[in-house]
Amino acid sequence: MTRTTPPRPLDLAAVFPELAGLSRSVTRLHSRSGMPTVGDSSVGGPLLWPQEEPWPTCTRSHEVYEVVELEAVRAEYRLMVARSSRPEDEWPTPEEQAILERSDPKMIPSPYTDPVPLLPVAQLYARDVPGLPCPEGADLLQILWCPFIDHDDGIPAIHVCWRSAGQVTALLSPLPEPPVIEREDYWPAPCVLHPEQVSEYPAPPQLPAEVRARVDAWQEDTGRYYIQFAVAPGWKIGGWGAVPSDGDYGNPPRCGCGAVTAPLFTIGLGEWNGGDEGGWRPLEDADADERRCYPAVGDGPMIDLGDEQLQIYYCPQSYEHPPVTVRVYQTL
Ligand SMILES: [Zn+2]
Ligand SMILES: [Zn+2]
Repeated sequence: MTRTTPPRPLDLAAVFPELAGLSRSVTRLHSRSGMPTVGDSSVGGPLLWPQEEPWPTCTRSHEVYEVVELEAVRAEYRLMVARSSRPEDEWPTPEEQAILERSDPKMIPSPYTDPVPLLPVAQLYARDVPGLPCPEGADLLQILWCPFIDHDDGIPAIHVCWRSAGQVTALLSPLPEPPVIEREDYWPAPCVLHPEQVSEYPAPPQLPAEVRARVDAWQEDTGRYYIQFAVAPGWKIGGWGAVPSDGDYGNPPRCGCGAVTAPLFTIGLGEWNGGDEGGWRPLEDADADERRCYPAVGDGPMIDLGDEQLQIYYCPQSYEHPPVTVRVYQTL
């Protein structure tokens, strides 16, 4: 099923004519629970990975005191998905209770020093994702992360690579994975994608000062929030990005080469907020629970980074330069 963002409920460029030249394309991924294969674009799905290429691994020492078993997290997820179609009073059976308990955090001696194979976050084929930034000759973007996210610098170990799918002949199988992860919220549940290109405007800190002052006054007058209409929520490619909560406030981070980076990939929160004043809830999801801020269990990737989003930027000078990852406070 496709996902369609409704026509914008408010034409921001009519309210603020200065925005006219600031609209940018962004591709909403609309991740939904599914069974993607290596041949599909996915979140949390298996990656098309060459047999001869080493799987990326995080070798930092992780200061954690509790972990969860990855297999137990998966089993609990499958159970929750199955449960969503069953009446409450049958829940849980003793067997189900055992599954739930197995996924409880377990104490471990800290730090955890085993090398950690990274987890697949996303794989995106250029044919599926309009506007996907890709080096010449490549048609597949793959993103992985370390499931022990709370590194000393607060930035998860993100691994980004592009490749040509046609050049992958022998597949690595099975894909390596860590026996334990820091929290169940750091396991991306398998999702298929329904990419859709829309447009968005800059968040307030990225606006020219005089426009921002008018936005502030408008918000005070109307009681509405500009950002709810301007910035597409959820997981997405490109666009304006969000606003880094650290570093050069309001500006995209710089690459080591000095160039200003461009938004590549956003690991966002829900696809719409509770009241959805911004009108981002896809038409096909009109019947979803009104009060829900996030897609329900089994509907999405299940990643929870608290009030933060993760934004990956790439260097427009060269795809060889390492991408920059920032954590972004959700300002809705
Ligand atoms: Zn790590
Ligand atoms: Zn660079």
